[in-house]
Amino acid sequence: MEQIDIKSLTLEELRRELAGHGEKPFRADQLYQWMHEKLAENFTAMTNLPKAFREWLETEYEYVTLEIVEVQRSKLDGTCKYLFRLPDGHVIESVLMRYHHGNSVCISSQAGCRMGCRFCASTIGGLERNLRPSEMLEQIYRIQKDSGERVSNVVVMGTGEPLDNYDHLVRFIRLLTHEKGLHISQRNLTVSTCGIAPGIRRLAEEELTITLALSLHAVTQEKRRELMPIANRYELSEVLDACGYYFQKTGRRLTLEYSLVAGVNDSPEDAKALAELAAPLHAHVNLIPVNPVTERNFVQPREKIIDNFKKNLEKNGINATLRREMGRDIDGACGQLRRKYIES
Ligand code: SAH
Repeated sequence: MEQIDIKSLTLEELRRELAGHGEKPFRADQLYQWMHEKLAENFTAMTNLPKAFREWLETEYEYVTLEIVEVQRSKLDGTCKYLFRLPDGHVIESVLMRYHHGNSVCISSQAGCRMGCRFCASTIGGLERNLRPSEMLEQIYRIQKDSGERVSNVVVMGTGEPLDNYDHLVRFIRLLTHEKGLHISQRNLTVSTCGIAPGIRRLAEEELTITLALSLHAVTQEKRRELMPIANRYELSEVLDACGYYFQKTGRRLTLEYSLVAGVNDSPEDAKALAELAAPLHAHVNLIPVNPVTERNFVQPREKIIDNFKKNLEKNGINATLRREMGRDIDGACGQLRRKYIES
């Protein structure tokens, strides 16, 4: 029989589960604290639990931890890329970024991805499988333990499409922001999607205060379809309507992500159309000069073009930031460290 993945249970579920085995409620609280606040590496480390109870837990439940395979540290900005091995052998990557306002971790939501965005390295080998809530949490837990520094922000912007793994994502969010766990503020959590419209609408109903980022990358349905196959399923207008609904329901401003590709989406007309799209959503625009990926032939626009694009947005009243990729000296772009590992 398959063992229960204990780290993916909510506190309420854990209490019920242990009560079913005749344990007192406070044991569940102690165990929850060991897993989600003290970030224990195994049951043995939970020293204030009776030894017999720990041994019983060991036989009864699966305790998911991730193994660090490799850490690459950037000498430029302190960014660290982690390569982790999952219990079944798949590898995933996560990134620790150090900012003035605190440490931010970018996590993967799936091993691989089936969305097929043309410029992205994470989707090249397709989807292997969804990550469980415990496996998403563990990326943050292991990084906090390994670095010895508190993580204050989390972005679900690594490999995978979070809304293609919806139930696990929402459970992960509730565990990560729970007051008896790491208690990361929902406002410091961003989920990025390629635009699964029904998922965005569903997320709007969850009564969460997280930030939603939409990977837009093109301002017309035609152009978007060329870059992102998901646009064949959900039209741009449908996705933008869903984003409008998200803003209306949650009051949270959206982020629009826009990867600048030379000669593809970087014209002044594109900037103007982008500003018109962003305004009604009260959205902030994040510009990312496309990261060159070995397997792809997309090129970053010249400095001047990038600059003008940003100024054009600002002239039209849109708040825009230019996100220079961090850790340029390590395997920078999304999914590249993992790909290199899989291929070697
Ligand atoms: N599937 C989600 C989250 C993962 S991708 C999404 O699509 O939003 C995180 C962000 O990185 C997305 O905006 C994605 O489009 C972008 N991205 C992927 N490959 C890139 C590349 N080579 N250069 C710049 N941005 C890239």
